[in-house]
Order: sequence, then C-alpha cells, then structure tokens
Amino acid sequence: TQQVRLAQRPTGLTDADTWDVTTEELPELGDGQILVKVAFISLDPAMRGWLNDVRSYVPPVGLGEVMRSLDIATVVETNHPDFAVGDTVSGLFGVTEYAISDGRGVQQVDLAVAPGPTWLGALGMPGMTAYFGLLEVGKLKAGETVVVSAAAGAVGSVVGQIAKAKGATVIGIAGGAQKCRLLTEELGFDAAIDYRDEDVLRRLRELAPKGIDIYFDNVGGEILDAALANLRRGARIVLCGAISAYNADTLPPGPSRYMSLLVHRASMTGFVVFDYADRYGEAVADIAKWLSEGKIKSREHVVEGGVARFGETLNLLFSGGNTGKLVLAL
Ligand code: NDP
Repeated sequence: TQQVRLAQRPTGLTDADTWDVTTEELPELGDGQILVKVAFISLDPAMRGWLNDVRSYVPPVGLGEVMRSLDIATVVETNHPDFAVGDTVSGLFGVTEYAISDGRGVQQVDLAVAPGPTWLGALGMPGMTAYFGLLEVGKLKAGETVVVSAAAGAVGSVVGQIAKAKGATVIGIAGGAQKCRLLTEELGFDAAIDYRDEDVLRRLRELAPKGIDIYFDNVGGEILDAALANLRRGARIVLCGAISAYNADTLPPGPSRYMSLLVHRASMTGFVVFDYADRYGEAVADIAKWLSEGKIKSREHVVEGGVARFGETLNLLFSGGNTGKLVLAL
C-alpha cells in the first residue's frame, strides 16, 4: 500500500519536503480487524495545525507517522462481526491506499442517501460544524443578518444555506468574482463581498446598515476586524476558524476592534465540532432532508490522482483553489 508520512515539520506552507510517499506491505489481518481500501480522503484546514508540535484539541501528527485524515473507504476483508466485505465506511484511516482497523470510530456510510464525497462535506464534519456552529453556538433567529467568511468553502457554503433556509439575510465573503457569483446565483445568498477586490468594512456597512447579528468566522485577521466594526446590539461571533493565520510563523496581532464587543453587548464564542458528536444524527437527518428538498446544494471539489497528490492538493485550501468541500479521490 502507498501512503503519505510526515517527513519534516513545515514552516509556512507545506511543500514536497514536508512529506514522504512510501510503499509498504500490510501485515496479516488479526482477530477483530478489518482491511479497508480508501476511496476518498478529506482535506481540512485543521491538518496544517496538526503538523505543528503544539498542544491543541488533538495531538500533533508525529514525524514519520502516516498523515491523519478522515476517509471514506470500502471494507475488502473482515475479521470483525460488525463489518461485511463491501460495506462503505468512514474513519480516520489516514492518507493511505489501504488501512487495517479494529473498527473503533469507524461508521457505516449509506450511499443511498448521498455519494461518498458528500459524506465528507455537507453530511460530514463540515456540515456538522455549520449546523451546530450556526444554530447552537450562534443561536440564529429568523430575520437576523448573518455574515460568513470563506463562504464558498465546505463549512461556509453550508452555513449560508442553512441560514437562508431558516429565514435569515445572508452575506458571504469570499475570494474572487466567480465564487461571489456562485454564492448569489446558485446558493441563494442575498449578497457577496469579494475580499480580494473590495473594501470589506465599507461593503458590510452598505449591505447591513443595521449591523450584523451573527458573524460566522472562518478566517480571522482583517476580515474579523471588519465584521467587528459592523456589529448590531447583542451580536454573536462564532469563532470557527482563522485560516488566514494557519501558515504564519509568528502569531498575528489580535483583533484591533474587539472593544466593539463591549459597545454592542456582543459575544465571541469558540467551539469545536466534536463536542456535538452525540448529536450528529440530528444534523445528518436535517441536512439530508434539506438536500433532498433542494434547500441546500452540496458542493464538492474532487481532485483525482491518489495519495501522491496529497501535498499539492492540501495547499489549494490556502490559495483558495477549492470551491466547496475539498476531497482527494483515489
Ligand atoms: P474551506 O473549504 O472553506 O477552504 C478554505 C477556504 O478558506 C479557501 O477556499 C479560501 O477561500 C479561504 N482562505 C484561505 N486562506 C485565506 C485567507 N488568508 N484569508 C481569507 N480566506 C482564506 O475549508 P473548511 O470549510 O474545511 O474550513 C473552514 C474553516 O472552518 C477553517 O478555518 C477550519 O479550520 C474551520 N473548521 C473549524 C471546525 C471547528 O470545529 N471549529 C471544524 C471544521 C472546520 P477564498 O477563495 O474565499 O479565500
């Protein structure tokens, strides 16, 4: 089996030196184990954080270890009572063609509901993040104004569409005219701001003259500051991610407009989607229903080419080269 191992901890963006592509024999299958063939690998901004030797909500990937990833795979051999040959499953099998697992944390995936890549996107971790971040952490109410950054991405595109389905006014912030058109013309957003070409702070003031009720922050940095400058009384900022800083060698200065939280009696709350793991079923049921009713469109950006293309594909997340959920197909 071919796999990608962490060769060297990167500074800044990852490059070819970060990874070792290796080919190894798999051991014999033991009792209670399954052998899976990986079909789709999820690429996530959080992966960049796992490469740093620091404490976070999950431990870093060790040097020489197979890169951690959530995959959709097919069971090809089984010594485990809960899994049959041919089952489609999801699990943290890593960036590898084949993996042996004891079945812990491995979930059955129903391809009758949606194809594999959607189970890594709208019905997977990004969808769960959008759902619980917006509804539980953000406490969205109908009629409110929601702003979301990285709006054409995996999490952001679902946040905006759920907010629309719940009766909010939705403004998306994304890089480039093409992504902005996708948001307003295909995904039902009320407006879009191209942060590469427009003054975000001024555009938010024009588009949300009464202020923002929820800012769902995926990027941090200057865009967070522009949102802080446009809050409405009682606003909630959902701190989901800060991708603008993930490749930085030194920490950027904090948001300069944070006193806006005081002025507007607003709050900013960080959250990690795994805290809602025992409620994923609820979110999957709702999102699957919205998908079947056409209220939500799932977008996946599938790159073909196998594990050897993992490194270059990962960097699409940081150049904005992906639209929707980025997935590597094997
Ligand atoms: P996306 O599919 O949104 O891909 C990342 C996007 O971020 C890119 O397409 C790009 O879009 C944008 N981007 C990249 N660099 C910058 C930058 N410097 N400034 C502004 N935008 C940038 O990824 P995900 O949907 O998987 O993740 C979105 C966010 O959600 C991340 O911050 C991630 O860490 C976070 N997250 C948090 C979770 C939690 O539990 N808290 C769980 C899952 C994800 P563009 O072309 O518009 O710039």
